[in-house]
Amino acid sequence: KALAASEIRRRFLDFFAQRGHEIVPSSSLVPADDPSLLFTNAGMVQFKRVFLGEESRSYTRAASSQKCVRAGGKHNDLDNVGYTARHHTFFEMLGNFSFGDYFKREAIAFAWEFLTAHLELPRERLWVTVFQDDDEAAALWREVAGVPADRIVRLGEKDNFWAMGDTGPCGPCSEILIDQGPGVGCGRPECRAGCDCDRYLELWNLVFMQFFRDEAGELHPLPRPSIDTGMGLERIAAVCQGKTTNFDSDLFAGLIARISGLSGRAYGAEPRDDVAMRVIADHARAGAFLVADGVLPSNEGRGYVLRRILRRAVRYGRVLGLEAPFLSEVTATVVDEMGEVYPELRAAGTFLDQVIRHEEARFAETLEFGLRLLDEEIDRLRRQGARIVPGDFIFRLYDTYGFPVDIVQDVCREEGLELDRSGFEAAMEAQRERSRRFQKSVVTRELPPIYRELLERGEGTAFVGYETLRHRARLS
Ligand code: ATP
Ligand code: MG
Ligand code: MG
Ligand code: MG
Repeated sequence: KALAASEIRRRFLDFFAQRGHEIVPSSSLVPADDPSLLFTNAGMVQFKRVFLGEESRSYTRAASSQKCVRAGGKHNDLDNVGYTARHHTFFEMLGNFSFGDYFKREAIAFAWEFLTAHLELPRERLWVTVFQDDDEAAALWREVAGVPADRIVRLGEKDNFWAMGDTGPCGPCSEILIDQGPGVGCGRPECRAGCDCDRYLELWNLVFMQFFRDEAGELHPLPRPSIDTGMGLERIAAVCQGKTTNFDSDLFAGLIARISGLSGRAYGAEPRDDVAMRVIADHARAGAFLVADGVLPSNEGRGYVLRRILRRAVRYGRVLGLEAPFLSEVTATVVDEMGEVYPELRAAGTFLDQVIRHEEARFAETLEFGLRLLDEEIDRLRRQGARIVPGDFIFRLYDTYGFPVDIVQDVCREEGLELDRSGFEAAMEAQRERSRRFQKSVVTRELPPIYRELLERGEGTAFVGYETLRHRARLS
């Protein structure tokens, strides 16, 4: 019988507990006192100060299963979701950490033993990548794990060098990949380990923190190097369950079934519907976990990313013919399925439900109206044999009706059309310029707050338009 994700999570933590690691609970998706970071996007985030030597703990080894969100900010996987088999906005990262304790040899030995002996992955399908200059790691993979030289691949800085910031701890990485065979991924003859498609699936990333980069950019060896690793639970679960996409793992089965039930459409019947079901399942998880960690939909910062995620999910509902509010039904399934491991979901309970319902309801009208205009425009373009949606049209949808550009992009992707991005940016800039000039000409202090807010928002970059058409009508 296939290993359940919950069993993998448990085995991972047990494995490292038996090897002297403190099991540390996941921290919040909202990083504690780190305004530079939108969301927790890796297991190491809660240990940053420990790695920097600014904080000491009673342990030098730790392991966790960390809630992560990669949407907005530096790591943004939002657009990948539904289209690759391996990316989510919300996912769980299993990780083991050494704070100046063990280093490369042990980190490699642990990872290899866990994957091959405890999860019984076939050795002959596993590949390893190292940083181009890291001879030490390449030698250790052969010595400690017995990986043949022709399955150890050297990659450059982009893939295999990690840094906490412009200055600070950094070092080479090493990844463990599994070859899912030529039937998965891009299918090009030149596809190799390191290709960005899904064939050589990156399972686990080991970071060898061995340098400190100073202001001048120079690397100094750290006296006590550290280890930071991360493995996506959804990916390893899919692999252990013989699936080639995360969305076919048990972590998503209940969600997909729920969405299929609500829409009356079968999963696996129509590619466009499958993408929609995956996006909704993914975004419902992100939405539920973010609200449970105290993020609320808004027009800026974290709340804005959450709003975009929820609205994107609602639009994908329309692809499945879901007109009525449906998203809170799916987030309720997230709570049912994950509430035992993450009690904060249950604690959020009816509040979570209300937030999702409210957000969906206030977007419904804008969505319907905007989609109608967009459909008409697409028809018009098709009749002319054109395939680029004009920038000033996209701008008008956004500026006048508050219709999100994300969604125009999703629709274009489905329809095989392109967006005139530079035309859109130009229209945006012209609008900013007009509002700057106008703002200078009025004494904003004397304006009623609602108008002052409007003026100020027009100046900002994250203006997302009016909430609903009714709201808009009230203002004009
Ligand atoms: P990829 O190259 O596939 O985008 P990555 O190199 O960006 O992955 P890391 O930053 O190394 O990923 O994160 C460590 C691990 O977390 C990855 O090896 C993978 O298993 C998992 N992971 C990363 N991003 C995602 C995501 N968006 N959804 C699910 N799992 C992820
Ligand atoms: Mg990535
Ligand atoms: Mg990678
Ligand atoms: Mg990586």
